[in-house]
Amino acid sequence: MMKLHHFHGGIHLPDHKSQSTQSVIAQAPLFSQLIIPFHQHAGETAKPIVQVGDHVLKGQLIGMPDGFISSAVHASTSGTITAIGLHPVAHHSGLPNLCATLIPDGQEQWCQREPVDYHSLSPEELQQLLRMAGIVGLGGATFPSDIKLRIGKQKVNTLILNAAECEPYITCDDMLMRERAVEIVQGAEMLRFIVDAEQVLIGIEDNKPEAIVAMRQAVAKSGASFEVVAIPSIYPGGSAKQLIRVLTGLEVPSGKLPTDVGVQSFNVATSYSVYRALAHGEPLLSRIVTVTGNVQQAKNYEALIGTPMNELVELSETLPDSNGYIMGGPMMGLPLPDIHVPVVKATNCVIIASKKIFPPPPPALPCIRCTRCVEVCPAELQPQDLYWFAKSRDFGKAQAFSLFDCIECGACSYVCPSHIPLVQYYRFAKSEIHSREKEKKAADIARERHEFRQHRIEREKLEKAEKLAARAKAAQALKSAKADNAELNK
Ligand code: SF4
Ligand code: SF4
Repeated sequence: MMKLHHFHGGIHLPDHKSQSTQSVIAQAPLFSQLIIPFHQHAGETAKPIVQVGDHVLKGQLIGMPDGFISSAVHASTSGTITAIGLHPVAHHSGLPNLCATLIPDGQEQWCQREPVDYHSLSPEELQQLLRMAGIVGLGGATFPSDIKLRIGKQKVNTLILNAAECEPYITCDDMLMRERAVEIVQGAEMLRFIVDAEQVLIGIEDNKPEAIVAMRQAVAKSGASFEVVAIPSIYPGGSAKQLIRVLTGLEVPSGKLPTDVGVQSFNVATSYSVYRALAHGEPLLSRIVTVTGNVQQAKNYEALIGTPMNELVELSETLPDSNGYIMGGPMMGLPLPDIHVPVVKATNCVIIASKKIFPPPPPALPCIRCTRCVEVCPAELQPQDLYWFAKSRDFGKAQAFSLFDCIECGACSYVCPSHIPLVQYYRFAKSEIHSREKEKKAADIARERHEFRQHRIEREKLEKAEKLAARAKAAQALKSAKADNAELNK
């Protein structure tokens, strides 16, 4: 049996998962309108390549990746594009995003699909195919997978499939593993092929026994030498650095990437979508979404990208005392001010909130320096100091105390006896630092331009003066020569 390691801190949370695992994944219906954002991934927004009035087929490319870190966007079904413009989306900024409105024709008519034999293609060709298939990390970060697969000269010894799903309430990966383990394992073999990893470890928290059995059966059936490892259910064991630590004992240093220690990791749902993209030629058009919390029947749905979230949650019958929505888990999720937003590639879960499920937090009290936050911090930070620096706007000190190593897991806030919303302070400090850096960059560019202009003016002045001096000198020389000639001719 494999030796497991520990990461610092972490907390035990009530998981609330059984609520949504009582029935199989349901297919969400095709609603009358889909809103498909062109920015559903980390990096640059995809460039629209369709126009209002265009008829599109299911799987047709509608947004071209634009820039090195970007990803493609596709029509989730066949129908007509009726608008391209700004629409509310689920995002921390609260700003609307460029979206295509697609009115389905109900035909679900596919475009030409081109499955490939991945063994016959180079890693670079496969990366390009995945980029054009819109494959991004489905664990929540939505980082384009082709970028994570471009490892350059680095050697990846270990490929990790992240199936920890450590946040309470979320069960989309659990259900996907129970029902589609064979495809996930095939996707893992494709990922292993691309990065040429020596070993594949599949880390699943031990509160998902059915998924562990299903994945072990699928691995055995495939004949692959992958190891399915049951890891302790300690939050945030699903964060990349913490999972790498538990499975391999390796520490990813601050500011470094997993590939710097010979490891790369992908979420299980990403592995599934890689399989669909290469073996069936299907771009990423849908995902599994857990709808849970204050509902009549919590469930997992396979929903098309662009599905109206308000209509999706109603399939589970929201209870009358509901008072809000969270996209993601209760620890790191995004509270939604408006449920009239589309399902996107990052939508792993929607929790319908109520006072009973999430009672309002008591008022925050002063920090009593109890250090409980320090004990649970998986990034081994000093959360109480970071809080103080953020509060007093001493951002330089916050950075010096490794603010950017904070993964915003919320473990510190969860245990704080003074009920201080610590993570909110860290997010505030990070966004202030980012906007100051942006301002500084803009000011630096403006200063450089100004200096360049001054330099150019000075240079032109000098050149002009030199020309005038040369001309005067030449005139003087001519005058002297004329005078000399006149003297000689006398
Ligand atoms: S847990 Fe709360 S009260 Fe205790 S040291 Fe940390 S911030 Fe202060
Ligand atoms: S939110 Fe940040 S500071 Fe708090 S426990 Fe998590 S990593 Fe540590």
